[in-house]
Parts: sequence; C-alpha cells; structure tokens
Amino acid sequence: MKIPFSPPYIDDSVIAEVTDSLKSGWITTGPKVKALEEEIQKLSNAQRVLCVNSWTTGAILMLRWLGIQPGDEVIVPAYTYCATALAVLWAGGKPVMVDSGEDLNISVDAIRKAITPKTKAIIPVDIAGWPCDYDAIMQLVNEPEIKAMFQATSPVMEKLGRIVVMSDSAHSIGAYYHQQHSGSETDIAIFSLHAVKNVTTAEGGAICLNMPEPFDNDELYAELRMKALNCQTKDAFTKTKVGGWRYDIVGMGMKANMADVNAAIGLAQIRQYDDLLKERKRVFEAYNNAFKNQSWSILPPCNDGVRESSYHVYALRIKDITEEQRDEIINEISKSEVAVNVHFIPMPMLTFFHGLGYQIEDYPQAYENYHHEISLPCYPQLTAEQLDYITTTVINAVHTVLK
Ligand SMILES: *Cc1c(COP(=O)(O)O)cnc(C)c1O
Repeated sequence: MKIPFSPPYIDDSVIAEVTDSLKSGWITTGPKVKALEEEIQKLSNAQRVLCVNSWTTGAILMLRWLGIQPGDEVIVPAYTYCATALAVLWAGGKPVMVDSGEDLNISVDAIRKAITPKTKAIIPVDIAGWPCDYDAIMQLVNEPEIKAMFQATSPVMEKLGRIVVMSDSAHSIGAYYHQQHSGSETDIAIFSLHAVKNVTTAEGGAICLNMPEPFDNDELYAELRMKALNCQTKDAFTKTKVGGWRYDIVGMGMKANMADVNAAIGLAQIRQYDDLLKERKRVFEAYNNAFKNQSWSILPPCNDGVRESSYHVYALRIKDITEEQRDEIINEISKSEVAVNVHFIPMPMLTFFHGLGYQIEDYPQAYENYHHEISLPCYPQLTAEQLDYITTTVINAVHTVLK
C-alpha cells in the first residue's frame, strides 16, 4: 500500500471554485483573494489579513516594513525550516539562532538570554502546528528592563517602542490558543499556504496583522497591499476600470501579491476547514492510541488545556536511539512504501548556515529533537485501514532496528 506524505486536499468544491475563477475573466489578485483574506481573518481573529504569494515573501515584506537595518538582530529557533532565517537575511538582518525546548518549540529562556540592544524582532515557530508559549513571549518583550534596552533603528520601531513578535505560523492555521483559533496573539503572525500545509493555495501566505496602538491595522493593510504590488498606487483590478489608467510608483515595492486562481483553492478548503481539522485530529489520535503503550515512544504535544495543535504533522520521537538508528528505521518504513519525513534538520547542520558560522553544538536540544524524530503522514484523507497499515509498519520497523 503506497502512502504519500502530504497530498493536497482537492475535492469537487475546490475544482468548482478554481473553474469559477478561470471562467470569470479575472485570474490575478481580485475578489477571490479578498474573500480568502476575510475567511482567514474570521478564523484567526486577526485585526486584518493580507494574502501574499508565500510565507517567505510575506516575512521579508514585514521585516522590510519594520525597517530592519544591517546589524539588526532577529531571534529565530535553530530548529525550524530554513525560510525562517532566510527571510531575515533577505531583509538585511542577522538571524540569531537559539535552542528549543522538548516540546520542539523555541525556548523562552533561550530567547531571554539572546536579547541584546540590537534585537529588533523575534520569530517563534509553531512547530508541527503546536503554538509557542505566546503569553510568556509577549510578556517578555513588554518587561520594563527589556523595553529599556531596546534601540529603535527605524520610524516603525520607534513607534512600537519594543521588540516586535512575528510568529512563523506556517504550520498552525486553525490551532487553538486560549479556546480560540490562533493568529491574534502576536503583533504579526504569518501562515503558509504552500502545497503541503493544512490549507493551501499551491503557493501562498497569509499575514495576520495585530499591531498594537497607535498602529492602525486597516491603514497598515492598505500600505502593505501597495508595498506588495510594486508600490503602485492602483492595483491591476482598479486600473481595468474605464478611465482608470493613470498610476504612480511611490517606493521600491516588492511583487508579492497572491493571484485569484490560487486563492480559489484555499477558499474552497477553508470553508470546510472545521471538518478537515476534525479529520486531522482523528488521524493524530489514531497514532497516539497506537504508540502510547510502546515503551520507546515520545508522543508529540497536542493539547495542554491552553493550546491545541492544528495537527499539521505527527512528529513521533523514539527514545534512546542514535541518528543512524533513526535513519535505519526510516529505511525500513520506506520498504513498505510509507512516505515519512524528518522535521527539521536544524539549520546549523545545513551547509549554507554552517558556512555562516552557526554550529550545531550550540543547540543541543535542537539536535535531540531532530535525531529522534520521524514525521508520519497526517491529513484528512487517511482511512482507518491506511492508518493501521502505517502504524503496523512503523512499529515493525522500530522493532527490527532495535531488536
Ligand atoms: C513551509 C514553511 C515556511 C515557508 O513557507 P513558504 O510559504 O513555502 O514560503 C516557513 N516556515 C516553516 C516552519 C515552514 O514549514
């Protein structure tokens, strides 16, 4: 039985919505993007939501808006996907990597130790869909001593008067924080709508804007929308109206807008997302039930009363194994054609970041998390029969290697 890792959820409603966009005569940014932004805003309780063409571009756009200067530091976990740090580099800042906790997420203690007067932003990552401890992180950036240390290097930073928290919520659309869907806990939260994520537009991202006063998130939305379209004073949709040809370019904008034909895919998915989340939870629980009595298993965090996961991936960890044994287990699993993954190879272990001087020895928990980890397929389409097959395959593979 062949089990893919993370196929997109494409049903008749998705196809109908895309067809509607194609037949409408308008395929780039327009009504479908607007509708998707509204749906994501409702779901996340954010003040405003701007859709863009990827998480990565969205993060660069926001860091540039913040006014990051050479030498400015942005704290990121070492244990994440490369995009978290690459966005900082493209925006002209310096990623300061810190270690994670046993729950796979960035350690708040490690953030505290890494803060200097050069720190301008923190990008916590909701690994596998498990929200970070945002109460603690927001409290930290608002501590009087931390605020006193803050040195603004741009007008936006001056206006905020403290370190900005921009969460990498690439995995966590639909997760819960204090009994409501997450996305409004931090100043800025960005969801990825890439093909393997819970809600997808093939490629895409959604920026949740929750800047505190005196910022006006409606004004900010309008400003960012323009910045995401070459700083052009009229978007293509407005320009097509009769007599609406004249426009101006008022800055060095980026080309980061999402197309309607893409938005249509996500729009049809998000309308049924409550049901899709329930199916993800069913899959997650089936894994928990299968592995909880295995002496070697460490189950991923999913619900602690304050937070609930978006069940993006099932990050199984296996106790007391070496990295080589983990790799052997993956080889065994692959023989049964079950696709698995590893989240994540810590960035210091990747050639590019290692070349910049980051060393894995400085991030022992990131290495711990990585070398015990195997991510199992987790998506709504998985049937009970497929889940039985996957769990049996995984258990047999572990026993074969650890015998
Ligand atoms: C997928 C992912 C990203 C990048 O998202 P794109 O939309 O592909 O740019 C960023 N961070 C994490 C943790 C991710 O998994």
